[in-house]
Amino acid sequence: MSRGEVNVVGAGLAGPLLAILLARRGFSVTLYERRADPRHASADAGRSINLALAARGIFALEHAGLMSSVRPLMIPMRGRMVHEPGRPPVLLPYGQREDEVIYSVGRAALNRLLIDEAARQPGITLRFGEACAAVSPARDRLVLNVVHDDGPAAPGKVGAAAQAGAPGHAGMVREVSLAPTIATDGAGSALRASLAAQGLVAVREEPLDHDYKELAIPPAAGRHALDPNALHVWPRRGFMLIALPNTDGSFTATLFLPREGAPSFAALGGEGTVAAFFTREFPDARPLVPDLEQQFREHPQGHLGTVHAAPWHIGGRVLLLGDAAHAIVPFHGQGMNAAFEDCRVLDELIDRHENWESRFTAFEVERRPNADAIARMAVENYGEMREAVLEPSFLRQKEWALELERRFPDRFIPRYSMVMFHPEIPYAEALRRGAVQQEILAALEKRSAGSSRLDLDFAWGMIETGL
Ligand SMILES: Cc1cc2nc3c(=O)[nH]c(=O)nc-3n(C[C@H](O)[C@H](O)[C@H](O)COP(=O)(O)OP(=O)(O)OC[C@H]3O[C@@H](n4cnc5c(N)ncnc54)[C@H](O)[C@@H]3O)c2cc1C
Repeated sequence: MSRGEVNVVGAGLAGPLLAILLARRGFSVTLYERRADPRHASADAGRSINLALAARGIFALEHAGLMSSVRPLMIPMRGRMVHEPGRPPVLLPYGQREDEVIYSVGRAALNRLLIDEAARQPGITLRFGEACAAVSPARDRLVLNVVHDDGPAAPGKVGAAAQAGAPGHAGMVREVSLAPTIATDGAGSALRASLAAQGLVAVREEPLDHDYKELAIPPAAGRHALDPNALHVWPRRGFMLIALPNTDGSFTATLFLPREGAPSFAALGGEGTVAAFFTREFPDARPLVPDLEQQFREHPQGHLGTVHAAPWHIGGRVLLLGDAAHAIVPFHGQGMNAAFEDCRVLDELIDRHENWESRFTAFEVERRPNADAIARMAVENYGEMREAVLEPSFLRQKEWALELERRFPDRFIPRYSMVMFHPEIPYAEALRRGAVQQEILAALEKRSAGSSRLDLDFAWGMIETGL
């Protein structure tokens, strides 16, 4: 017997995972997605083609029993391969144990897999081509625009939408009961905007003044053109290029660059300017993108930013989750990981609380400090990736941090490792301990007077008092 209906709006990365977890707890879930079914349509053009999956995301996928299907999509990346002009690339390992790696995963393939798993799960009705247009907690209504004649993809049980007269036809507007409704409709969430328009949620967006553009690096002679087991970075202080491997032998490179100024996307408009910029700044990457000018012209220029919203829930009727609640900049590779962690945390709260209001309240209490912490660390990591990795003192301190972890594994885990490899340590705790670590490393730096000598006794004294 069903424990009740739940609507999930948005079948991107978090939506299908959440739907699976809720259906396994006995709820009847209707999952709405404005796009056509990606299992039948061509992959999203212009979205980031691959993402870094790390321990928090993996833990959540394991929790849902999905890791054996996801694993074939994953390419391990054991560190940052830093490309400086005129020097051979250098690998900076992410961690120190065999399993301290992160994984490149194709977004479209992961999305299709999650939707496929959701379609197989009894208790889930998938409704593609239906865009949430508005939400009204006062009237208990979710308003949907039918944008494609896709209808329900899985003829499972009859969901709240079906009761309201589905299937719909393009142009139709339908209303269904909130049921409750969980918004996983991403960074530009329509549900969040609708709640904000009613004065129920306050939203503050912090746009980044750097945009991004993705470029494909095709395989060279049938193989990856660069070492596939690394995340490649071309740090240039004010901007950077990165590249993550794909399972088909290609890489997806992403240029992060200011919108205005010199250099900037605005300055790369004229004929030949893009090729000249790449030849000057990324001489080893330039030959890897033969159709650079064409790709640059055709691929969209994406915007980035952090979204702060409060509250995330309206009683027990509506909850924002994943990017809809807390979109962040991508420089720590944690947006999807945090969204998956949200799903796991909410799932674990279900049986600990009797009703949706107290589940949503507990979710927000637990997750908000962590979302704030990763938002901050993600912004900080942009500086680390495009600039700090060029500084000898930063590299020295990274090495010391790993050495301190080897010596004192119970007391010192570098902040990056806590975020990427330790899902048992909340983001907020990683941020707090990271600040103490920074003080210790700065003191060690002062003490070493520019040499690479690490004073372990002094370090231990500080660790004992500080951490
Ligand atoms: C350039 C870039 C690189 C990134 N790299 C990483 C990385 O390496 N690692 C990482 O962990 N994260 C990364 N992220 C972040 C990651 O993409 C997001 O955090 C993640 O996709 C959030 O999942 P979500 O389910 O909340 O939202 P999404 O995955 O965006 O899904 C939202 C879904 O809702 C649907 N939708 C939207 N509006 C409506 C509507 N009105 N009605 C119905 N459906 C709707 C959309 O079509 C979409 O399917 C990156 C992001 C960017 C931009």
